[in-house]
Amino acid sequence: MSAADEARVLAAVPTGLFVDGEWGPAASGRTFDVRDPSTGEVVASVADADASDGLRALDAAAAAQAAWAAIPPRTRSDVLRRAFDLLRERADDLALLMTLEMGKLLAESRGEVAYGSEFVRWASEEAVRVSGRYGTNPEGTGRTIVLKRPVGPCLLITPWNFPLAMATRKIAPALAAGCTVVVKPADLTPLTTLAFVAILAEAGVPDGVVNVVTTTSAGEVCEPIIRDPRLRKLSFTGSTPVGSTLLAQASERVLRTSMELGGNAPFLVFDDADLDAAVEGALLAKFRNVGQACTAANRFLVHEAVSDEFVRRVTDRVEAMTLGRGTDDGVDVGPLIDDRAVAKAEHLVADAVSRGAVVRTGGSRGGGTGTFFEPTVLDGVQPGSELLTAEIFGPVLAVSTFADEEEAVRQANDTEFGLVAYAFTRDLARGQRLAETLETGMLGLNVGVVSNASAPFGGVKASGLGREGGLEGIQEYLETVYLMTPDPFAA
Ligand code: NAP
Repeated sequence: MSAADEARVLAAVPTGLFVDGEWGPAASGRTFDVRDPSTGEVVASVADADASDGLRALDAAAAAQAAWAAIPPRTRSDVLRRAFDLLRERADDLALLMTLEMGKLLAESRGEVAYGSEFVRWASEEAVRVSGRYGTNPEGTGRTIVLKRPVGPCLLITPWNFPLAMATRKIAPALAAGCTVVVKPADLTPLTTLAFVAILAEAGVPDGVVNVVTTTSAGEVCEPIIRDPRLRKLSFTGSTPVGSTLLAQASERVLRTSMELGGNAPFLVFDDADLDAAVEGALLAKFRNVGQACTAANRFLVHEAVSDEFVRRVTDRVEAMTLGRGTDDGVDVGPLIDDRAVAKAEHLVADAVSRGAVVRTGGSRGGGTGTFFEPTVLDGVQPGSELLTAEIFGPVLAVSTFADEEEAVRQANDTEFGLVAYAFTRDLARGQRLAETLETGMLGLNVGVVSNASAPFGGVKASGLGREGGLEGIQEYLETVYLMTPDPFAA
């Protein structure tokens, strides 16, 4: 991709608020800058909404709700399918846009466009499969009919780390179910969401069904929407502390919520594991998105008999990685999202080293103007190290050991989080035991990536409530209503 491609892609992206089918400025006229983390340069300025803009977006979503719910499911499905086709057609441009605002490697951005688009295709297929049931009650005196209907207007709040997939994973099933939405993307990465919403409009989504507010005042804009009785659902992906604040706000009205929150994934390597596969899985689970993923492996727990060999092999691979701008060829690790993320990685490494961990490679800030941190391997991480409880969200692969399966499970579960776990073993029965004993919503058994549009993504414990994707994803946007009728054969 050339500088001309970058300029063309940036010139094409809308930068206003999208409310009731119209792009326009914020009421205040204010804008904010979006920066390329590889260079620190401003790539775009977008509208900076205030509370009045947020409520205007909710007005539009509430006004459009009844008509959108009444449209035949096949029509909603066709609109989503057109959006999927457009996403595929424009995959290269969307990937470049994502890399410019977020920093991830172009190849990974392409992967995210493919992954994110699948939620749109999946939802287009699910739109026509929403069904209820009909049955006889146990007493034989009546018939029960269970039907599903859209929840109503939704507020969808997304994080910066997967700017397309986190938006499609919410917007597509909401639309498929017949809900209208107000979307609030992260202020660090609003551009990809704006481009996706433009595609939805082009695909035929009617005015008011999808509305987007970009803002630097997330709390000021979202709280009045959450407290407004017209809103029927909040779906949030982000950190656990913000999720818990939003749950408190939502609880006052008993607002329905879905929460996709933080993770602290254990990555278990047993002594019977295929070590080649474990190393490949480890590199994927750790360095995808420079470790900035809720699913990133945070704690590598390795059986003491194979730990030295595992560390040697991953260190060889990590040492060979090249840091650089996500758009450049030959780069393996891009920048972190901002300077705070670099400072956090620096602090967590220093803390672990002060408690006895050994740096096998990396461990420091990268050079240049961007927000880089070297890909790092830490060995011998000791209990009490902060990175065992905090989300690292950086390219730091931290290894500690266990002696047997019981200890491995105890260490793995020793966290408030429960989003995903990874385990490498050749023993099938052990794999099944882990699925039953690890406190996690998802388990990657001998794989380093679990995300798939057809699977129910989500966590237990402080990692959240509800699921996105799979058969479960659309249910988050549907109400269950039940009807009792008399026995039609009774006189
Ligand atoms: P974050 O700081 O919690 O922000 C997430 C979103 O919430 C952003 O759009 C943010 O807006 C908004 N927000 C912040 N404060 C708010 C408030 N008071 N009211 C309403 N909205 C508010 O999280 P992040 O740093 O963007 O993302 C990283 C976190 O997300 C990590 O913890 C990661 O594990 C988690 N995550 C979870 C999943 C999952 O599926 N479980 C997936 C991806 C990421 P601004 O950014 O504009 O302030």
